[in-house]
Amino acid sequence: MPYAGVPSLSGPSSLRIIHYPDSRLRARSAPVERFDAGLRELAAQMFSLMRESKGVGLAAPQVGVLLRMFVMNATGQPDDDRVLINPVIDEMEGSAQATEGCLSIPGVNVQIRRPVACRIIAQDLAGERVELRGRDLVARIWQHETDHLNGVLILDRMGPTDRVATKKVLRALEDPVR
Ligand code: ZN
Repeated sequence: MPYAGVPSLSGPSSLRIIHYPDSRLRARSAPVERFDAGLRELAAQMFSLMRESKGVGLAAPQVGVLLRMFVMNATGQPDDDRVLINPVIDEMEGSAQATEGCLSIPGVNVQIRRPVACRIIAQDLAGERVELRGRDLVARIWQHETDHLNGVLILDRMGPTDRVATKKVLRALEDPVR
């Protein structure tokens, strides 16, 4: 069922980053249909959480909001802040392995093979169509964050070596009392 609006956010600290194994990270998020003040406020809060955590990208489901949007900044320069809404990735080229972490899976950094370059078609906060081509880190962030909108995590894409290496950390996240 498409989810049209953003729940009203009651203050700058009302959102937090949720962690694996929270089931919301496994949901398929709904398209954004309303480009309103609530959506702009959500994006602003996501940017501040991303910066606090020294991340380069953060998807709405990572703050428990199941909408197809993410924020990113590949360089740390304020001019490079970008909000991408209802993204579709295509025209993928090449293949490369690189280390990825995820703000929702603290302590896990794994090797992930992905296309090197791709195109992304999305909307901005005003609902305007955005079409971009990127490669390397930028293309990797687009793919990682778009995965989140489909409930896909780096854990699903890592190889057998990382699967073994991360077992203990994941078990601790799954069962923090032990
Ligand atoms: Zn992530």
